[in-house]
Amino acid sequence: MLQFVAIVGAIALAAMVGLLMSLIESATQNLMTTTAQHDRLADLQTEAADLDEVIATLDAESAAKALLTVDRSIQRWLVDLIEMRRASDHISATTFDNATQPLQRMIQIFPDITGDRKSGPEFADALAQLQTDSTRYARSVDKLQALAASAVNATATSLTRRRRIGMLAIGVLCLLYLAMIENMRYWTTRRLVRPVEELADAAIQAMRGEESLPQLEECGTQELNALARMLSSFVETLKQKVLERTAELERQKVTLEREVAVRRRAEEQLRHAAFHDRLTSLCNRDLLMDRLDRCITRARRNTDYKFAVLFLDVDRFKEVNDSLGHTVGDELLVGIAKRIQTCLRNTDTLSRVESNTISRIGGDEFVILLDGIKARTDASLVAERLQTELAAPFKLSGREVFSSASIGIAFNELEYDTPDHLLRDADAAMYHAKASGKARHEVFNKRMHEQAMARLQLDTDLRRAVENEELIVRYQPIVNLRTGRIDGFEALVRWNHPERGLVSPLEFISHAEETGLVVQLGKRVLEQACSQIRAWQDEFGLEASLAISVNVSKRQVAEPGLVQTVKEILEDTGVDGRCLKLEITETVIMANPDSITEVLHKLRELGVQIHMDDFGTGYSSLSYLHRFPIDVLKIDREFMSTMNANKDYAGIVHTIVVLAHNLNMEVIVEGVETRDQLSQLIALDCDHAQGFYFAEALDPDKAKELLVSRPHWIPASAA
Ligand code: C2E
Ligand code: CA
Ligand code: CA
Repeated sequence: MLQFVAIVGAIALAAMVGLLMSLIESATQNLMTTTAQHDRLADLQTEAADLDEVIATLDAESAAKALLTVDRSIQRWLVDLIEMRRASDHISATTFDNATQPLQRMIQIFPDITGDRKSGPEFADALAQLQTDSTRYARSVDKLQALAASAVNATATSLTRRRRIGMLAIGVLCLLYLAMIENMRYWTTRRLVRPVEELADAAIQAMRGEESLPQLEECGTQELNALARMLSSFVETLKQKVLERTAELERQKVTLEREVAVRRRAEEQLRHAAFHDRLTSLCNRDLLMDRLDRCITRARRNTDYKFAVLFLDVDRFKEVNDSLGHTVGDELLVGIAKRIQTCLRNTDTLSRVESNTISRIGGDEFVILLDGIKARTDASLVAERLQTELAAPFKLSGREVFSSASIGIAFNELEYDTPDHLLRDADAAMYHAKASGKARHEVFNKRMHEQAMARLQLDTDLRRAVENEELIVRYQPIVNLRTGRIDGFEALVRWNHPERGLVSPLEFISHAEETGLVVQLGKRVLEQACSQIRAWQDEFGLEASLAISVNVSKRQVAEPGLVQTVKEILEDTGVDGRCLKLEITETVIMANPDSITEVLHKLRELGVQIHMDDFGTGYSSLSYLHRFPIDVLKIDREFMSTMNANKDYAGIVHTIVVLAHNLNMEVIVEGVETRDQLSQLIALDCDHAQGFYFAEALDPDKAKELLVSRPHWIPASAA
């Protein structure tokens, strides 16, 4: 803008200077013309003086000739003068007329002089007139010349003045121009640049988001003021928007923070869930293994560093779980977890222990890592404290439950490579504690490892045994106490081991139960037993009066195909369903009352009887019995063996018998070893008995011999 104004100003100044110069030039031109006229008049003056002199000296004779020349000169002068008059503005018309008048008269006179028309006097008069006029003319020319001289002077003076005025005008113009430029600069600065700068500053501050913006004054051009107002309102709007946005962001931030907190909590929960047991909130197996791994690494670097692993397994937990239900079982586990925690916190010697890990790695298995113990006795001390702590009864769902735990301890002294091995050995020690009577602790030694290896071997061998049909069935008679006769057999499995000979089911059934192999094994026993009983029935013509009792394990009952398997075997062997009795232990029945009842009903639809085995060892309430489709209560042999020592047991057996009869059930008492016991059972109105007193479990041939001998055990008095 400034540049534009300056350029326009410069162009205007140049135009004015040009105009002045052209004026000066015209004045100079004028001066030159005037000077030329002056010079010409000076010449005319000389020539007029000469003419005047010539004319003055003219006499009549010479005049005519001379005057011819003079006449042409006079006429030329007149033309010159007339031209000069046209070009001159400093010689007035009057002056000029006065100057030329003598000449014109002279011109008029000349024909008179030069012509022959004039006589002597007339000629003389004319000549005199001419001379007068010539003199006048000379004077007029003098006058003209003076006038021209003064005109030259005046023109020169005017020119000088004009030059001065021109220079002054140029100077003034320049000053004006500068002033204008300065003014424009000032104006531009004040009205354009500064407001624009302020606007720019304000815009930058607004862009930076500064809180207070400078007050934009109304000092710029209309447009700038409008722009400033716009910027102000824009900034205001922006501020408002920023405030709203900030508030919105604040809200979003709060929401986000809440979400982040929720997510973080969820992540923590997930992380916690990934490494902790859901039920007890203790560490889980993964976390334990990780910590064990670290301890092993540390022990490798630092030989002074010691740690111990306590493998704790709750004794008879399965029974609690099976008989009182999973909810109570879970409560017990939570209670045990809490006691372990309390115990570890309160054990003084452990104040030296750097950090402990308490974990639940499976059902009723807890592992405690004592990190940084000083002596082996620390671990034993903790184990003892734990056992004391767990011995106190638990209040679960309104009832008191007693519990205990078997603990295996392993130290890192054997230079373990992996946590698995350490855990395996602590487990082996625990197994040993359990096998040695439960509720105790054992420290691992290499022999235990061998035993654990033996168990592993057992598993392999047992699988092979099932495949190779090394499992055989023995038959123990069940005697009807009303007739004194055998009315059935219990099928009891044996393992005909190629090296060890006959192996007791006590050595492998629980193992087969753990591994699930019992399902396959049980099916084989059922097939063999049914085939055998059918063979004897045919042989002795005992169609419906010789029964076979077969043990069914928990796993088998849980198998969905049990009813179908039984049905098929009955069909395949041709045994009447009423001759088959399935023995299911009390704890198994009580563990899953609802699901098992359904299975039992289906089995009964096949005509099969259900015998509740090992009755009296579980937690079943007698008042529950009527709910189950059970035909016979088979009282555990423990009762029989204790009955002699404790007379109360006879009362209990009697109560059971009465109750069973009231519920339309019969009673079998197992473990009868003496004649006295038999008499007692008869006196207690028991229905059946089984035990070594009659016969142990016999191979098929021996059992057949017994059948052939048709034994009778009831004394005539009792019968
Ligand atoms: P159980 O069902 O209670 O079987 C009775 C056990 O008591 C048998 O031991 C039998 O030999 C033993 N017994 C019989 N009379 C007397 C006696 O007068 N005194 C003493 N002290 N014991 C007597 P066995 O054959 O060693 O069986 C042990 C357990 O193995 C059985 O207990 C049963 O729970 C299980 N079992 C045996 N065969 C099978 C089977 O085929 N399938 C399943 N699932 N378990 C079986
Ligand atoms: Ca049995
Ligand atoms: Ca039994």
